[in-house]
This record gives sequence, structure tokens and C-alpha cells, in this order.
Amino acid sequence: METCLVAGGGGFIGSHLCESLLDENFRVICVDNFITGDKSNIKHLSLNKNFLLIEDDIIKRKEYDIAKTNYIFHLASPASPNLKSKKSYINFPLETLLVNSLGTYNLLEVALKSNAKFLYTSTSEVYGDPAISPQTETYFGNVNPNGIRSPYDESKRFGESITMTYFRKFNLDSRIIRIFNTYGPRMQKDDGRVVSNFINQALENRPITIYGDGAQTRSFCFVSDMVEGIKRAMFNEETSGEVINLGNPTEKSILDFAKLIIQLTQSSSELLFEELPQDDPKKRNPDITKAKKILNWEPKIELEKGIVKTIQYYKEL
Ligand code: UDP
Repeated sequence: METCLVAGGGGFIGSHLCESLLDENFRVICVDNFITGDKSNIKHLSLNKNFLLIEDDIIKRKEYDIAKTNYIFHLASPASPNLKSKKSYINFPLETLLVNSLGTYNLLEVALKSNAKFLYTSTSEVYGDPAISPQTETYFGNVNPNGIRSPYDESKRFGESITMTYFRKFNLDSRIIRIFNTYGPRMQKDDGRVVSNFINQALENRPITIYGDGAQTRSFCFVSDMVEGIKRAMFNEETSGEVINLGNPTEKSILDFAKLIIQLTQSSSELLFEELPQDDPKKRNPDITKAKKILNWEPKIELEKGIVKTIQYYKEL
């Protein structure tokens, strides 16, 4: 039986990944410090004899008493940009900077010692406020290096750089994926992101808070599609040293997204326009040509279907 270490396995995407790897008969070691993740995400896995939780911070811990780890997935990082949420990376700037720099270094060292394959989860945020759309992996981005989003954007860029350094210098079998907006069950209600905010506002008939005029766009990928893409990126002979976008290329304006949520929840919420946060990207849409070609992957869950499942999740909370 092979072993996967999932850093950030207590988070939204990480917990779905742990579950899916267990289903495929891997032993899973989940490492999380739960500053933004939540133990309830993995509670149902704790009885599985192939699941081990290590509550720890990858910034501090360099050694894992793991004789043989075959695969390391690095998903550990705060990821919400919303200043109003306690769980956003704007409120954990140092933790975010360090988990993607020192934390990535520590995990790369573990990978080297255990001869494990390594996958770093980067982000569409490395493109910043992109001057081209859709974004291809070859685009270098348009990032403010010291703005309020910079602890996330710049540390993810550093994380990419150090991952590629271990690939080039030590031939470490490593790959980078860039995750675009992802949503679904277990996305935390109070993480401040547009999907969780809009759905919960609509369910409670509170005003839907649109930042700016709502003309900015995002492309939303359902979590099961994302997990499938992450696994294909890891368990593929051709991905070593590659950078691959993963996301759903169906682009929607935030205003249209708000209207869709109101319609699907049959809510009486009104629209409330608020100030646009600093450096909020105007467009975001992944070019997934490379993922289609190398991984034979593309998202399958349509937005409406995924949103209905997510609404159901929040209703049952
Ligand atoms: N947004 C919004 N209202 C909210 C939360 C977010 O209009 O209550 C906007 C936000 O300004 C951004 C988009 O929705 O343009 C997506 O925001 P999110 O925080 O989900 O993630 P991002 O894609 O910016 O990383």
C-alpha cells in the first residue's frame, strides 16, 4: 500500500482529496494546523485505519517519522482574500508567507529524503490582475508585489520557484498546479469568498454584497472536478517539471453570479453594492488546453448543478 502525505488535508479541497485517496486504497497522512481548516471536514475519516492526522505546522516541523512516503501533496495555505473574514490570508499574512516559502522548503526536503513525488498547489493569483484572458501557463502575470494580496500572491510565486529549483537541481519528481476558483461542500461558511457569502446571504434573505459594480469575472470549478485534476496531475508520468492550470473555463460576471444564486435559492435578497477591494482582479479564466492534453482532464460538473449541491450543503449545516 502506498502512502500520501496531504499538507492542508483538513481544509476544503484537502479534505476532499484525503477522502478520494483513501477510496483509492492509499494510506493518507493528513497534516494541518487548522488555522483556516476545520476538524469537522475530516471527522468522518478518523475511523479509517489508513488515515492518520498529524496536527502540526509545516513551517515548524521539518521531520516526519515516516519511513516511506510515496507522494506529497502541498495544499497547506490560507486562501481567502476577504479582509472581512477572520480566516482570510489578509488576516494571516505572515503565516501565509511562511507556509508557502519555509513550509514548501520543509516539505520538499521531506520529499527528497523519502524519494517521494511532490505536487505544489499554486494559484491563479500568480497571474494577479491579468492583462490577458484567458490565462495560459506561459503568462508571467501582473502582480502587485507589496499590496494587501501580496502575502498570498508572492509567496505562491516563491513556492513555484523553489519547487522548480528542487526539480532542476535535485531531479525531484515534482509538478505545480495552479488552482482557479473552486467551490463546493465544506467551503467554510465564514471564509468570505464570493460563493459562500452569496449563498448564505441568499438563504438568509440578507443583501447580496457585490464588491464594485460586479463586472469583474470569475470561473468556478466544482470541488470533485478539482480533486480529479489534482490526482491526475500527481499520478502521471508526463507532469514532472510542468506547471498546469486547473479550473473551469466557464466565465461569469459577479453580478450574473449573484442573480443566479438568488434564482437558485428563490431568495428575496436585494443587491448591495460595496467598495471593490484593492487589487481585485478584473478577469479570471483558465486556459486549460494543457490539462486537457496532458491529463485528459476537463471539468464535468456544470455551474448550476454544483451550486445546487453547495446550497444543499449549507442548508444542512
Ligand atoms: N466578491 C463580492 N462579494 C463578496 C465576496 C466577493 O463581490 O461578498 C467578489 C470579489 O471582490 C471578487 C470575486 O467576488 O471580485 C471573487 O472573490 P473571492 O473572494 O471568492 O476570491 P478571488 O477570486 O478574488 O480570489
